[in-house]
Amino acid sequence: MRIDLHTHSFVSDGTDSPAQLVRRAAQLGLDVVALTDHDTWAGVAEARAEAAKVGIDLLGGLEFSCELSGHTVHLLGLGIREDDGALSDETERIRESRLGRVERMAAALSALGMPLSAEEIYAQAEDATTVGRPHVADALVAKGYIENRRVAFDNWLYDGGPAYVPHLRCPLLQGIALIRGAGGVAIIAHPWLRGTADVLTPEVLAELVRSHGLDGFESDHEDHDAAARAELRALAARIGAIPTGSSDYHGVGKVGHDLGVNTTSLASLDEILARIAERGGVGLNRQNV
Ligand code: AMP
Ligand code: ZN
Ligand code: FE
Ligand code: FE
Repeated sequence: MRIDLHTHSFVSDGTDSPAQLVRRAAQLGLDVVALTDHDTWAGVAEARAEAAKVGIDLLGGLEFSCELSGHTVHLLGLGIREDDGALSDETERIRESRLGRVERMAAALSALGMPLSAEEIYAQAEDATTVGRPHVADALVAKGYIENRRVAFDNWLYDGGPAYVPHLRCPLLQGIALIRGAGGVAIIAHPWLRGTADVLTPEVLAELVRSHGLDGFESDHEDHDAAARAELRALAARIGAIPTGSSDYHGVGKVGHDLGVNTTSLASLDEILARIAERGGVGLNRQNV
């Protein structure tokens, strides 16, 4: 079984439609894929329908923008009920805060000598429910200022960078509670990505699992080196957390993150599905059609 539990479509900042993403997953021989767009699950219905057609399993979810000790922490919510009011309200608030931010990032880049309007950024986010920094980067590419998204992140858009503007984020403990309240399983994405490793120490991760309902975290992610992966897997085993592995696929928007480059074990998937069932969430599409 090949299982990839963290992917993005153009409903947020990936470049494939949800159906294209699912078809690609099937072509690459994946058996289970989760669609986890940033702060929205607007693409899940389309992805689920396509998965049924091509004969793979789709798990619905999102990657929820949360905050802990001033740092952005990305929380995957897998198997959430898509009609949950509390989670819908919070993600809508976050998506709205991303709109005012676009204007401010356009102004900052213009001041840095790259004239850019909010409209030119929105033109890159035509199909998106959630607008983000990658669309800003795409607008810079479209204007011919730079070659690819990476240049924009390396120079101006990185966290704290000269054109970085924060958006609203949900306090992490509240985020975990909202995901569980919606029937879902809460998994911290890329915990040891540059920036968050300082705040998500082994002690903090253990405490989140023990006392705050965190279900698990990604151990296998392209942005973790071999030592970090091994340490996170061992930590998960020690504290009873679910370890996952995933691509964080963004279509052509993120190099080195193709579908299936990292995968999740069947044991982890089974535990995730058992918890979703227990909480009244939404499991694999085959169980829901
Ligand atoms: P935002 O949620 O708008 O603050 O944008 C953050 C997103 O930008 C991340 O979730 C990634 O998808 C993307 N991102 C971060 N760094 C890079 C990079 N170097 N190249 C391409 N995309 C990136
Ligand atoms: Zn993204
Ligand atoms: Fe992320
Ligand atoms: Fe992601």
